[in-house]
Amino acid sequence: MKLRRDLVESWDDERAIGNAIIVALRPGRKFSHDMNGADHVAGFDTVKEANAGVLRSVPCACGVCTAALEAARRDKKRERK
Ligand SMILES: [Zn+2]
Repeated sequence: MKLRRDLVESWDDERAIGNAIIVALRPGRKFSHDMNGADHVAGFDTVKEANAGVLRSVPCACGVCTAALEAARRDKKRERK
């Protein structure tokens, strides 16, 4: 799913060791507030739930995201030179 690639920074399926699917969103996105206050990283029991959570994510302009996006922009500018 292209949308998922665009929104997700990391996707770690740790169900085999008794954990959840740990999903971290890319800078500039957070999980929506209806998910127990979870923000940039959340755990899900199933792939279906994880996909739904990612699709419900919303833009985020917190200090961490803003700094990460600015750093990424700076790196891109440097690459162009
Ligand atoms: Zn943020």
